[in-house]
Amino acid sequence: MKNKQQLGIPFVSLVGRVNVGKSSLFNRLLGEKKALASPVPGTTRDVNYGVCHWRDCQMLLADTGGLVLQPQTEIDKAIQQHAGSAIRRSTLVLFLVDLSAGLHPDDKRYVQLVSKMTKAPILLVGNKADSLASPGDLFAKEWYSLGLGAPHAVSAQSGMGSGDLLDVICNVLPKHQENESDVAPIKVAVIGRTNVGKSSLVNRVLGEERVIVSATAHTTREPHDTLIQYGTTPLLLIDTVGIRRKSAVSSHIEREGVKRSIKNIRKADIVLLVVESAVTPSKQEKRLASIADEAGSGIIIIVNKWDQVPDKTSKSILAYEKQFRDYFSFVDWSPMIFLSALTGQRIHTVLDRVMLVQEQRTRVLSQELVNDFFAKAKKRQPPQWIRGQKKPVLYGMKQVDSCPPTFRLEVKERFSIHTNYLRYLERRLREVFGFAGTPIRIVTAQPRSKLFAKQ
Ligand code: GDP
Repeated sequence: MKNKQQLGIPFVSLVGRVNVGKSSLFNRLLGEKKALASPVPGTTRDVNYGVCHWRDCQMLLADTGGLVLQPQTEIDKAIQQHAGSAIRRSTLVLFLVDLSAGLHPDDKRYVQLVSKMTKAPILLVGNKADSLASPGDLFAKEWYSLGLGAPHAVSAQSGMGSGDLLDVICNVLPKHQENESDVAPIKVAVIGRTNVGKSSLVNRVLGEERVIVSATAHTTREPHDTLIQYGTTPLLLIDTVGIRRKSAVSSHIEREGVKRSIKNIRKADIVLLVVESAVTPSKQEKRLASIADEAGSGIIIIVNKWDQVPDKTSKSILAYEKQFRDYFSFVDWSPMIFLSALTGQRIHTVLDRVMLVQEQRTRVLSQELVNDFFAKAKKRQPPQWIRGQKKPVLYGMKQVDSCPPTFRLEVKERFSIHTNYLRYLERRLREVFGFAGTPIRIVTAQPRSKLFAKQ
């Protein structure tokens, strides 16, 4: 297992009724950058993520979309599930209210709902502060009735108070370790065929203003690796010095490139598999993706040279994504970024995705959450009886590892569970918890304790 250390990027979720301005505040706190769209289609669709940098503080911000008090429809239930999952893993919850509308009866119910879901601190944030008649209104009794003190006033629209709010958030969040070399860096390998644009990508990423190429020596650092600091997080780009100083290409080098890619996958926490927009992915590229999957690495597929795609319309990305997803269907959980290393288009999303994937692959679910998930998944679809095998009996499920997230399915007879059922459980895990960009392992085992078997 690689890099077991928890990343420690604080997770901050933005919660509140519809129309209080969650998305506007989300974009405001992220600065110019827009939200990272959902990393994998069909999964965490209703939660947007973005990495927010403020002074010496960094956080993964999640816009939960909205909570529904009494979810009725399947869509409501899905929204609730995704928002709930974000709230449960929060280090801090920002509970947003609308100062111009005053306290809404639902605000209190939402606060109660959120308090049941998490023990993380909840910060009351009052949006639309530009519409307040007097600053004294912030201290009105109605706001105190939520039990969260007076709201921190902001205006997502004008930006008023957003810096002060970020200061408050950073004071509440746990501090990062001071010394960069104390924290294990996230190891990232850029892999792919020659000429797809790996060196251009690395040079572009290193040229980004928010990336500091670190001079600090690190114990895990080899001469060809580049240690960088992204916000407060160290990242080690594996074997990139060789990539950056490129030499001529020959078929020999091509073979060497693939061999080297394979070697680097094994050292990496996350791989960036670079392919070209206009070229159908080759067998070699699929092989690299499947080796990374087997190695338990996080995978982000970078579709480069987007500038070369002719006659682009707003629908082009969807059409291309469909095609590329077909090629890489066996790792359909990998985020895919369409970018141009030449023009720099969407380059700024690359390291944010790396952070998001690392956050997902280091995630550890509480046993309570796993139990709840398992009971519902089993009820929704019980395992089928395989001919010639004993009747399938499932006792329970446990997360036994992370990096990649690994679950043990406790069963009466190991071979009574069809692989299709394990695939179903993996699909449900992704639908409920996300786990974007990381493989998931589910292993079957007979229970270690008799007590467990009797449950
Ligand atoms: P590597 O072998 O994978 O490291 O590929 P390079 O980074 O050396 O790029 C190979 C060629 O593709 C060079 O001529 C680059 O200028 C070009 N290239 C790289 N990225 C892009 C891109 O986004 N758009 C276009 N049009 N050309 C690119």
